[in-house]
Amino acid sequence: MKVLPPGITVFERGWLSSNNILLEDKHQTLLIDSGYCTHSAQTVALVQSKLGARSLDVLVNTHLHSDHCGGNAALQASYPWLKIYIPPGNASSVQAWDKQSLTYEATGQSCPPFSFSKSLEIGSQFEAAKLRWEILAAPGHDPDSVIVFNTQQGILISADALWENGFGVVFPEIEGDSAFDEVQHTLDLIKSLDANCVIPGHGQPFYDVTTAVARAQSRLNFFRENPIKHALYAAKVLLKFKLLELHQTSFQQLHEWSQQTRYFQMLHAKYWASLTTDAWVRMLITELEKAGAATVQQDLISDLT
Ligand SMILES: [Zn+2]
Repeated sequence: MKVLPPGITVFERGWLSSNNILLEDKHQTLLIDSGYCTHSAQTVALVQSKLGARSLDVLVNTHLHSDHCGGNAALQASYPWLKIYIPPGNASSVQAWDKQSLTYEATGQSCPPFSFSKSLEIGSQFEAAKLRWEILAAPGHDPDSVIVFNTQQGILISADALWENGFGVVFPEIEGDSAFDEVQHTLDLIKSLDANCVIPGHGQPFYDVTTAVARAQSRLNFFRENPIKHALYAAKVLLKFKLLELHQTSFQQLHEWSQQTRYFQMLHAKYWASLTTDAWVRMLITELEKAGAATVQQDLISDLT
């Protein structure tokens, strides 16, 4: 299978916004993940362009990172009858809009509040795009993340648990909670599914799943042996995300942001305490420059995508 079945549309976004996967059949329209808040008008426009006069019935979030549910509020405003289903374990945080446990404070990212209809149940199934989908637990990148699998066609909606080239930062590790074992369990689960196609949270759908899983496995092994490399990856991802959001910024502005961003502070304290925060941010920006992800002119830092 190299083509997705009819009824499945993948809106491939970038790294600031996750992909949005639209599943349609005559019974209902269902979207998986809604992108980052600064792109929410585009998310609504993409959904509307495909659905036309039809309404969006259900929105499922694989996890509640800001780049996966930042468009929830805008979609809710556009589709008043929209039902939002969130991963298990997040209900009280969303009800209270607890930015700390939802990690928006820790990551220095934004997410407009939204309301939800119910929590997803691990092992439960739903029908969409004339296919049956199962909700599976996929802790690691996020402790509550789910992935969605269709057995008949072997299609896996993998969120940030598996990308064509790696997987998302293992955020609980930054908090000091060991989570590499969870990443391993999730990779083992994905391997056992023997999927034909993966629709990841970021990047295009891919079909060589075996190679992607092997790549993710060796990346996990590398991070286990070199936790500082995972910390560096996490710091660069957080900084690059901010650059993607701001397009252009200054060292002063980044310094202020880093002071308010708990994960960033934790990474600094644990691995780079010998450097001032300022020197550390400059070191990270130099790394991004070397990777072609940013340019610096005097005090001005610009995103390069
Ligand atoms: Zn994520």
